[in-house]
Amino acid sequence: MSIAPDTAVALDHRFARELPELAVRWQAESAPDPRLLVLNEPLAAEMGLDAEWLRTPDGLGFLVGTSLPDDAQPVAQGYAGHQFGGWVPRLGDGRALLLGELVDSGGQLRDIHLKGSGRTPFARGGDGLAAVGPMLREYVVSEAMHALGIPTTRSLSVVATGRKVHRETTLDGAVLARVAKSHLRVGSFQYVAASGDLDVLRRLADHAIARHYPAVADADNPYLALLEAVISAQARLVAQWMLVGFIHGVINTDNMTISGETIDYGPCAFMDAFDPTTVFSSIDSWGRYAYGNQPTVAGWNLARFAEALLPLIADDQDEGIKLATASMQDFPRQYTAAWTAGMRDKLGLRAAVSDATVAELAEDLLELLRGDRVDYTSFFRLLVRAARGETGPALAVFSDRPGADAWLQRWRTLAPDAEAMDRVNPVYIPRNHLVEEALAAATAGDLEPLRQLLAAVTSPYSERPGFERYAEPAPEEFTGCFQTFCGT
Ligand code: AMP
Ligand code: MG
Repeated sequence: MSIAPDTAVALDHRFARELPELAVRWQAESAPDPRLLVLNEPLAAEMGLDAEWLRTPDGLGFLVGTSLPDDAQPVAQGYAGHQFGGWVPRLGDGRALLLGELVDSGGQLRDIHLKGSGRTPFARGGDGLAAVGPMLREYVVSEAMHALGIPTTRSLSVVATGRKVHRETTLDGAVLARVAKSHLRVGSFQYVAASGDLDVLRRLADHAIARHYPAVADADNPYLALLEAVISAQARLVAQWMLVGFIHGVINTDNMTISGETIDYGPCAFMDAFDPTTVFSSIDSWGRYAYGNQPTVAGWNLARFAEALLPLIADDQDEGIKLATASMQDFPRQYTAAWTAGMRDKLGLRAAVSDATVAELAEDLLELLRGDRVDYTSFFRLLVRAARGETGPALAVFSDRPGADAWLQRWRTLAPDAEAMDRVNPVYIPRNHLVEEALAAATAGDLEPLRQLLAAVTSPYSERPGFERYAEPAPEEFTGCFQTFCGT
């Protein structure tokens, strides 16, 4: 079947057109036996893509990049980055392709991008491929993040390719189709800045402004205003991660977007027991990207972004540094404001309660949670019950009963709003043990646990019968040894 007129995909190629220096024309590798594992129908509809067509052989060919509209121009994007603090001048899409952009139902231009589509000129030693498990993992976690109201790239589909992928064992290969406001990263700016080509740097910044922060174009100094807009977006984003207990795991500068969307769900995981030193990634041996370090490393990455923008901010370097430094100094304040506002909501506290009171209560609570390694997510649901007068279950998780009791009394005096708390404290998050269980089943051919998990986490606030085990903390023996892996 060919692409019928009403299912034709009208891809734009704005990135490739405006920034040819960062775009290498490339083709996806063949997929011997494509098989659809999961399709995000609401997202397809949002993107103006016909879900029924996407399920046809031509549709699957689109989702793995092997059968594209005649005028399609898939490209691998060039970027650089600091990986665990070390500078890598040339990273780029080693196993990914930008198919182009589509205007969504809200009028927003969004990238359609494939991951696992074969080696590109940026592949270095990699095979360009991805396995079913990690691509489904990105699908589940990114869709859960979206349902939690956290800006993120979205997942449209995962298609098994029929190609084998060699890791420690032989695995089935897959391609993830993802949707993003753009794939511009701090590393994109670093790549161009390092080349010293000011014309391309200006074009890149203008492209970012037009796509993400159009109002900034009217500022006195649009490039300084771009820096400030990204600082604000990232301050809010990282605060949201912290509020839900999300650990990205590999916040290298190439994995930090200009749009403020979360990107690259490799070794990420949700924290179970509250502990700021939590690290799951097998390669993060120094804990650089531990839960509690995330705001600091985000600030560090933004400083690298500021450095890349310096030549655009002012002709005189000292003047540029002065302006950028002043803007950077606002990052901690904005982060704290976003975090405190989020904690106010989680604790159900009204506007009349001062920020200082909210922050102090929240810090004291986290200290109690840390002391007993209490499960972070489910505790806030116990707190909703406490707001309704049933304090027993919340108290029972602490060994320091008098301390916990004193905290609960301080908080309850402020008349927390239980209904408001219900709306912001998730019941269901993609808990590591459940994600691993669903991926193991899917890898063995049973997609039902994955569907159940998706049903739970894409509607995270409404407690439903039959989903009890999705709300429960991981068994202790699982939490103690859980590790995640990168680049798989
Ligand atoms: P990540 O840590 O997943 O963001 O990836 C970092 C860099 O490694 C990017 O340039 C990726 O394109 C590249 N990369 C990761 N896995 C592979 C692979 N299997 N083949 C080629 N390149 C890869
Ligand atoms: Mg990446």
